[in-house]
Amino acid sequence: MTTSIDTATLRQLDQSHHLHPFTDFGNYARDGGRIISRAEHIYIYDSDGNAMLDGMSGLWCCNLGYSQKAIVEAVYHQMQELPYYNNFFRCSNQPAVELASQLARLSPADFNHVFFTNSGSEANDTNIRLVHRYYDLLGKPEKKQIISRKNAYHGSTIAASSLGGMQAMHDQAIGLDYVHHINQPHWFELGGDRSPDEFGIAVARELETKIDELGEERVAAFIAEPIQGAGGVIIPPDTYWPEVQRICDERDILLIADEVICGFGRTGTWWGSETYGIRPHLMTFAKAITNGYMPLGGVLVSDTLSDVLLGSGGEFTHGLTYSGHPASCAAGLATLGILEETGIIDSAARDIAPHFQRRLREFIDHPIVGEVRGRGMFAAVELVRDKGSRERLAAKSAGAVYCRDQANNNGLMVRQTGDAMITAPPLVCSIEEIDILADKLGQALDATASHYG
Ligand code: PLP
Repeated sequence: MTTSIDTATLRQLDQSHHLHPFTDFGNYARDGGRIISRAEHIYIYDSDGNAMLDGMSGLWCCNLGYSQKAIVEAVYHQMQELPYYNNFFRCSNQPAVELASQLARLSPADFNHVFFTNSGSEANDTNIRLVHRYYDLLGKPEKKQIISRKNAYHGSTIAASSLGGMQAMHDQAIGLDYVHHINQPHWFELGGDRSPDEFGIAVARELETKIDELGEERVAAFIAEPIQGAGGVIIPPDTYWPEVQRICDERDILLIADEVICGFGRTGTWWGSETYGIRPHLMTFAKAITNGYMPLGGVLVSDTLSDVLLGSGGEFTHGLTYSGHPASCAAGLATLGILEETGIIDSAARDIAPHFQRRLREFIDHPIVGEVRGRGMFAAVELVRDKGSRERLAAKSAGAVYCRDQANNNGLMVRQTGDAMITAPPLVCSIEEIDILADKLGQALDATASHYG
């Protein structure tokens, strides 16, 4: 049981001993941190008692908000029954077995196996291991190259950050030499004078060009999020995914859909792949599978790969101490139970998301907004100085950083990516709560416009 420590001491201890992920250490040394001490429904509270509406669902994971007692109780119960055992060497546990079969039921028909990890990053590492093993077993060991997209985020381990295409991460880590990047379907940034549909086809065909450049016989897979999330909620033009699908089908390339953000209702259906009619061979999941309450990720494996892996009779030399952790899987099962019993994915898509998208799209008339894009329960608002030329509001994304700080200081947790404001609120938001979110974001845009006016 932790005893209560006052905020000043906590902040000081945090600065002295806690090395934070994705935090600017200069800003942190200057401004100090914020201790989040409790959360309820869609609100988080800091240790000074300030409430914030969480317009990011934690890190895109608490899709059902913070008050889901059934998940907490499922974990508590499981910890009493079997707090740990591993799944190596033919052992298993009931929550892992049940969760794997529920996920198989809820995914496309040709997906019948699950490999569990603790995180999305490890799941994407697992994808590489699976794909390489698959082609080795097929007697095509030269098929090892993987194509991904610039500005993608697939995690932070060496392999996952290699798969990702974020320049700032590549600047600090040596990427794997068998991973290659093509452009993202970001029309506002790259589309120029082309229509979104023209651009969608052109940018999809970069995949074909890259396959030709590397040699089809050497390319194993293409990995992408249905909608790129952390990169800036990049909504692909309608023409993009059908063209990518055609290319993967024709060129014998495995398609990996990273569903870590899109999965479990974010785009309005269970899977982003479903929303876009994508037919992947592997699907990465994490985050909302436990509503963010416990660490859990994994890969949904289609029969194409599992038939070969299981048929080989040999060992897949890959595993994590906590693969299929019983308490995490119990949290996953309880989360799936809530999603199904409440029908929240459908009701949010029907009743809440249209209002959310409508309210945010009203910002297109705002003097510093160049584009509003979104789907389901996530969206981005792109900040500009000049709408026609798409000139950015300020150098080095300073305008969006300022806007984010304004929103944060006014009780709204949203994020800035590049020059865009990003929001992905919990599916359990009410219409009134969406209005509060939109009003606060509007106030932050007004303050930013006058600051840079
Ligand atoms: N893939 C995507 C699309 C993500 O957004 C993330 C995390 O944000 C990851 C993978 C990595 O997941 P984790 O942080 O659980 O390792």
